[in-house]
Amino acid sequence: MNKNTEYGLLLMIIAISINLTFTAISAVIGTSINISIISFILLLVGIILIAIGRKQYGEKHSRNVLIAVFIFIFSFIFSIIVVAAAIFSAISSEDLNSLKIIFYIIPIVAVLDGLMYLFLLYELEKPKGKIIVISGIAVTLISSLVIIALIMPSVDGLINEFDEKYKSDTITRNYYSDGYNSYFEEEKRFNNKVEEMQTQATRVGAVGIFGQLFYLFAFYLPYKRIKDGELMPLIKNKSYNMRRCMNCGRLCPSDSMVCAYCGNKFESTPNNKYQNYYY
Ligand SMILES: [Zn+2]
Repeated sequence: MNKNTEYGLLLMIIAISINLTFTAISAVIGTSINISIISFILLLVGIILIAIGRKQYGEKHSRNVLIAVFIFIFSFIFSIIVVAAAIFSAISSEDLNSLKIIFYIIPIVAVLDGLMYLFLLYELEKPKGKIIVISGIAVTLISSLVIIALIMPSVDGLINEFDEKYKSDTITRNYYSDGYNSYFEEEKRFNNKVEEMQTQATRVGAVGIFGQLFYLFAFYLPYKRIKDGELMPLIKNKSYNMRRCMNCGRLCPSDSMVCAYCGNKFESTPNNKYQNYYY
């Protein structure tokens, strides 16, 4: 029996746990520890494993997983395009306000990721698990809005500061040969502001932990169901006895009384009229 789905779920659990732990540690020490590459790779492999094993858990699940993979790819490409466009626009227009769009897509990406989780898990969850995933989406959306509301004032402040610095840089270089002392002081002050903002962003990022906790639990539930044998994969049993319906020609389980496809009545035991098939 292949365990792709089980291992896929386990990798998702590990990826979310790593994310959660390092978000918490970063918030406490006030310096961002960026491990997003590691958790992204784990997430990616997890999704691939779940996609490979998708047919073992029914047609609906199989279809849902494909939708989830599509959302994952879309969300990834969407983020890259928006960030690239924002940076390009900021450079070409010399207006840093264009960079703010990077913050505004955080809630959109949060909802897309949440929907991806929902499609991955929906058919594997009991009603309670489904509610936990949906709650996770709601909590992540709310916390990403809170993060934006808390960070945006500092971002605005920093952009204004930068604009002024940019102007005074030009003035300093062009007109004042004795202005270097004040120039360096201003440079230092600006860098401090940037550092301050980074620290604040790291601390505020801890709000995201709540949504991650919901997702962690949501992935753990079906993982446990599969591990405990409560959720059984559909296995093609090699010794499963089939008979072919002589009316429509399709295969039906040998113990069925009527053909599931055309309603043709079978005789009580497969005999020479109804052939036995093993596959
Ligand atoms: Zn039939």
